[in-house]
Amino acid sequence: MEDKLRKSDTLNVLGQLAAGIAHEVRNPMTAVKGFIQLLENSMEKEHAMYFNIISTELARIDSIINEFLFLSKPQAVKYMDNDVIIIMKETVKLLNAQALLNNIQFRTYYEYGLQPISCESNQLKKVFINIIKNAIEVMPKGGVITISVRSAEHHGIYITIKDEGGGIPENKLDKLGQPFYTTKERGTGLGLMVSYKIIDEHHGRVHVNSEVAMGTTFEIYLPNKRR
Ligand code: ADP
Ligand code: MG
Repeated sequence: MEDKLRKSDTLNVLGQLAAGIAHEVRNPMTAVKGFIQLLENSMEKEHAMYFNIISTELARIDSIINEFLFLSKPQAVKYMDNDVIIIMKETVKLLNAQALLNNIQFRTYYEYGLQPISCESNQLKKVFINIIKNAIEVMPKGGVITISVRSAEHHGIYITIKDEGGGIPENKLDKLGQPFYTTKERGTGLGLMVSYKIIDEHHGRVHVNSEVAMGTTFEIYLPNKRR
């Protein structure tokens, strides 16, 4: 309990700071993006690859700013009864191309006829995208990502996303969701933080099961009524 409190305090302070910075950075960023675009056409061939790097890095800054704004702003969220299977299906469709490129197959198990869940569908989709993207990223040689959506006790639903990646050492498990915790060269370490916040706001729970060299399963429980 205490741990949980401390975590949300940190989130609040961080959120306020982030809001300020993100807003300040956004405007100059827009200007830079605009002028870089203008330069692209007049750029000499040998410099074209710099343009690619600049664009990629700008996109990265953009995504960091967006995650921060998301964390800091009280979202104007509209909870509605949704079928989580539909949200998951949309997510899988969205990520299918990226999975195929990486030789990854999705295997999905849906228990149809589940009760609708009171949720913000875009936010839940964001959570699923973050977790499935992580799964794709830990399977550079391809494999299977297994996804299931089924009923859980207490009128909730239970979602699992399982990969065949390298797993997470036990002593690193509690670092997941901490701001900027990443083991990737190009990671932001914000994806899980945002995802955990969303699940928390839905009064859900996340549990991570992982075995090094075997893979990782993210288990999400969502209640169908917000209390
Ligand atoms: P990022 O993906 O930018 O690194 P995340 O918050 O999405 O940030 O993830 C944080 C870290 O958690 C990752 O860098 C990785 O070390 C670990 N992680 C998350 N998902 C998995 C997974 N499915 N398998 C192994 N490690 C994972
Ligand atoms: Mg990630």
